[in-house]
Amino acid sequence: MTAQILDGKAIAADIKAQLKTEVDQLLEAGKRRPGLAVILVGENPASQVYVRNKRNSCEQAGFLSELIELPASTTQQELLERIDILNKDDAIDGILVQLPLPDHIDENAIIEKIDISKDVDGFHPYNVGRLTLRMPNLRPCTPKGVMTLLERTGHKLSGLDAVIIGQSNIVGRPMALELLAARCTITVCHSRTKDLEEKIRNADVIVAAVGIANFVKGEWIKEGALVIDVGINRLDNGSLCGDVDFESAKEKASWITPVPGGVGPMTVATLLENTFQAYLNRV
Ligand code: NAD
Repeated sequence: MTAQILDGKAIAADIKAQLKTEVDQLLEAGKRRPGLAVILVGENPASQVYVRNKRNSCEQAGFLSELIELPASTTQQELLERIDILNKDDAIDGILVQLPLPDHIDENAIIEKIDISKDVDGFHPYNVGRLTLRMPNLRPCTPKGVMTLLERTGHKLSGLDAVIIGQSNIVGRPMALELLAARCTITVCHSRTKDLEEKIRNADVIVAAVGIANFVKGEWIKEGALVIDVGINRLDNGSLCGDVDFESAKEKASWITPVPGGVGPMTVATLLENTFQAYLNRV
């Protein structure tokens, strides 16, 4: 079998174009634009790229975008005060603090400071709790974007066996909640998991979020599986690759996401969807 490619770049472009149409209609009706504020602390090069992509996408969709760049020496108190100002700003519907933060800042304290109605990353314990209880509101962007990709395959997810590799707060865990809500039977694997290969061999859906280049081999993949590669790894030659060995995996999977051009663009498009949803909830 040679897999069909799940083209996240094209699907994300559709989502952004649809949002632009909706924003244009709002503007014609005399309404304000949806607004997203992004806070970047320090000079992490990967974070700078992600923030630039988010800003460009905001502009493409006609959203107001505010970038707040702070030095790495910013104190936790100063950052909390910045968030407080944005929480009270009526032009801002979504607040995103780009992670990771410098070591002297407690990420959980920052996430908890964001107004739950503006938590467009969906990382606040309130929004994670809502997802856990099957009452979703603002859902974490990467796993929600993966669900959009899986829906586009046209496959019925209910009853499938899904293996998630990785248990981080931003990808693995909320991904498990999303797939459970879609009535998959889920197995969450991590660095202490025994017989990982065996678990992957039985999976109808595989979501890899490990952060190790080409970690999942094609020979581990069940014929016809849906394979989603969240990983973004930079190789020594400067090119990007995922956590799945794409060349061998595409011979086994029925659908597979490429890296780049798969999950990455969907994360950004989903951030805009969430900002639009936060805007609609607030007007
Ligand atoms: P993380 O480092 O927080 O988590 C990695 C997870 O992999 C951990 O739960 C760990 O237990 C597990 N793991 C590590 N080694 C393992 C092993 N040998 N076997 C099984 N599990 C193992 O990373 P993260 O923030 O969840 O990100 C994962 C990857 O996804 C990274 O490459 C990151 O760059 C990428 N990412 C992409 C997007 C996107 O939009 N495409 C968004 C977020 C993260």
